[in-house]
Amino acid sequence: MASKKRSAPYTVPRLKDFSAPALDKAAEKLLAALHDESSRIKNEADWKTFRDRWMARSNGILTQINNLWLKAAPKEVKPQVGQRVNEIKDKVEDEIQDTELDLIRIQQEQLSSSSYVKAADHLDITLPGIRRPLGAEHPVIKTTNELVAVFRNLGYSVQEGPVIETDYYNFESLNFPPNHPARDTQDTLFVARQESKPLRDRLLLRTHTSPVQIRTMERMKPPLRIVIPGKVHRNDPPDATHSPMFHQIEGLAVDSNITFGDLKGTLDHAMRMFFGSSVKTSFRPSFFPFTEPSAEMMVSCFICGGSGKRGSEPCRPCKQTGWIEILGCGMVDPSVFDFVKDNGYDPQKISGFAFGMGADRIALLKYGVDDIQLFFNGDVRFLEQFE
Ligand SMILES: [Zn+2]
Repeated sequence: MASKKRSAPYTVPRLKDFSAPALDKAAEKLLAALHDESSRIKNEADWKTFRDRWMARSNGILTQINNLWLKAAPKEVKPQVGQRVNEIKDKVEDEIQDTELDLIRIQQEQLSSSSYVKAADHLDITLPGIRRPLGAEHPVIKTTNELVAVFRNLGYSVQEGPVIETDYYNFESLNFPPNHPARDTQDTLFVARQESKPLRDRLLLRTHTSPVQIRTMERMKPPLRIVIPGKVHRNDPPDATHSPMFHQIEGLAVDSNITFGDLKGTLDHAMRMFFGSSVKTSFRPSFFPFTEPSAEMMVSCFICGGSGKRGSEPCRPCKQTGWIEILGCGMVDPSVFDFVKDNGYDPQKISGFAFGMGADRIALLKYGVDDIQLFFNGDVRFLEQFE
């Protein structure tokens, strides 16, 4: 019977006698239980159980003595009981902290005697460290930055706009009227459930960077020289030359008396800055809804030097023609200026040219990569080659 009583966990008794000797006795019993329990702690889990049993705010032993001893004490002895309870609290807190420190010391001793740390003592600090490779610019970003830098040096400022656009900015204001067949050439990805809105407010993923032209002209008065790099989307199934997401760089210059000669001179200079001074340019007529007249610009093949041959082999990038199609361009259609006429773009007084090119396509050509998918499937072994 007696041994069973000793092994039972300590519980806080209700006190009937609040005299000093009775308090001494109760405190003695409590502290004996505290020492007994702390001496049994073997690991961190034991210690946490111990800490919570004594310190837990809701029903820990310290809370219990506060309730069962201090609050229950008659008014006249409360100061003495309070003092005693505080002493007990200090002792319990010290004990719990000491036990934790003991535990940490034991763990450290165990660690320092383990073979792992012994090996670490013999580390050869003269051995080379682990090399953490630095990242590099992605070839498409690098190409974009280089092209943008060419135009910045010509005094163009960089403008950007949202990738999710409205029908108005992506089509209507660029002279693609509703149901115009030119819209069909841009396989557009539309945002779902827009049918309740008027057509011009419906959202889509922009199919070109051209909406930024209108957005900028709404904000800034002429004269204007801007270059617009950015991501665009079209519903093109991925293959070696197509990706549903790709990158364009677009430019716009507006001033009084801008001519097609300015367009040719600017682009010819830009291409020689980018591809090298021996590169020639050539223009042939084309069609875009937002420019009139429109042209496609070709550069002489910078791979075969315009000969169409690489040694005895035919040159594939230029299809043996000696020319590579690089961008679309033209004089801004006056009906585009009509959309921003109120901001000083009176087609009677100003004119401008615009051009746009695919950054991915130029990166493919520049680095001799034959599959656009390699740019986007994130294989580090491929990307490492561009460091
Ligand atoms: Zn060639």
